[in-house]
This record gives sequence, C-alpha cells and structure tokens, in this order.
Amino acid sequence: MKQFLIEVGKAQPITPDCDRTDCVVQQGMSMTTALGWIPTFDKYGNPLNKDPNTTTTHMSCLVCGKTWLSKR
Ligand SMILES: [Zn+2]
Repeated sequence: MKQFLIEVGKAQPITPDCDRTDCVVQQGMSMTTALGWIPTFDKYGNPLNKDPNTTTTHMSCLVCGKTWLSKR
C-alpha cells in the first residue's frame, strides 16, 4: 500500500499517482494534531495567529483502489 502526502484545496487533482480522470475519492478518518492554539484577533476581527494544527485525512479512490493521506 502506497501512501502520499498531498495538500487539498489547490487547483490540481487531489488524486496523486492516478492515471484515470474518473476517480471517485472517498474521505475517511481525520486526525488533528492537538497543539494548544488560542485564536487571537485584532479589533477588526483579523486573525493575528495561524492555527498550527495539521489535519490528516485518509483518502481512498474507489475506482483505482489507491489510498493516501491528505494534509491541511
Ligand atoms: Zn483513482
């Protein structure tokens, strides 16, 4: 079983190493790192710090059977 780390949300296919264009991707379990993070804003609601936590999601393609991890 091959695993990949990719970033979701970019303007590119989310299926790594997959030749097909008709992939059906199913999202599995997600895990988030439990780093302590207190959102901080200025008076206008602009965020002053970024969430350092990473959410890792198991993805699998129902068409070609590949599985990988996505990160955001
Ligand atoms: Zn596929």
